[in-house]
Amino acid sequence: MKIENADNQRCGFVTLLGAPNAGKSTLVNQLIGQKVSIVSPKVQTTRTRVSAVLTEGDCQAVFIDTPGIFADPKRRLEKAMISMAWHEAHQTDRIMVLVDASKKAAVQHSEIILSNLKGPFSKIDLILNKVDAVPKESLLALADRLMTEYGFASCFMVSALKGSGVEQLRKHVFDLLPEGPWHYPEDQITDMANPLLAAEVTREKLFLNLNQELPYELTVETESWAVQNNGDLRIEQAIIVSKSGHKGIILGNKGQKIKKVGADSRRDLSDLFGRKVHLFLFVKVKEKWLDDMERYREMGIDPSLVPR
Ligand code: GDP
Ligand code: MG
Repeated sequence: MKIENADNQRCGFVTLLGAPNAGKSTLVNQLIGQKVSIVSPKVQTTRTRVSAVLTEGDCQAVFIDTPGIFADPKRRLEKAMISMAWHEAHQTDRIMVLVDASKKAAVQHSEIILSNLKGPFSKIDLILNKVDAVPKESLLALADRLMTEYGFASCFMVSALKGSGVEQLRKHVFDLLPEGPWHYPEDQITDMANPLLAAEVTREKLFLNLNQELPYELTVETESWAVQNNGDLRIEQAIIVSKSGHKGIILGNKGQKIKKVGADSRRDLSDLFGRKVHLFLFVKVKEKWLDDMERYREMGIDPSLVPR
């Protein structure tokens, strides 16, 4: 059946690839102009696939903010995340590689990743980010070197944080979009289900409050979600750790830590959903949660892509 496209609509999917901390989530938020993904100063916080939708005029661009790509994946979860990112990237209309240009180590990390990328780069755009923190001469030299070495389609220099260069990038994205009907209603900004989004918010607060103490093997699951008669939201979430010793770290002295995490998360959730939120957090120990394929599915990762 042919889908009529009488409205001249254009729609396409754009994948953002980049090392952890390159600024993918920040860029997506800047492009969309609203908080849709989780931004955190700690690496590796965007674990689930988050897409954001930008609709303007006849155009609709759907951004896939991939989980971090690692130069040297060791853990099963990291490998699964990379397989997922690749799998998704190749199904989209355009791939854009984001590089943190502000730190030498970050550029080197990106180059290890790039050397593993299968071309052709002539259909991939390079985005140099954090230009607010780079002297102009070294920025131009870097752009020149990467363009010559890899032959990207084009190079954009942006500050995802401050917004400079983002307008040109947005225009470029719109120009690339193939003709086709929109995939989402005009007012939709993310296709991540609300309970999953709420779990991401709490996970962000755990990262921010626990710093170095944070157990790596941790996940948050929204267990119940209910709109009460008065319109308030009641959300119950389980913080799942793999070792019983980690439970105390999350709770903190006299439960102070989890209380603070809950208060911070509740504040953001109320803003996000535009209503009063009653949030209940529990800590659960599940030793084998990383082996549980259902858990991957909940995190948006196709279990068939998890290496054995
Ligand atoms: P992701 O892991 O690629 O999604 O990276 P995030 O978007 O979470 O950003 C990682 C860190 O880099 C955060 O602390 C951001 O505030 C910071 N950051 C992102 N973009 C910029 C930028 O343009 N300039 C500067 N100075 N910092 C940035
Ligand atoms: Mg991110």
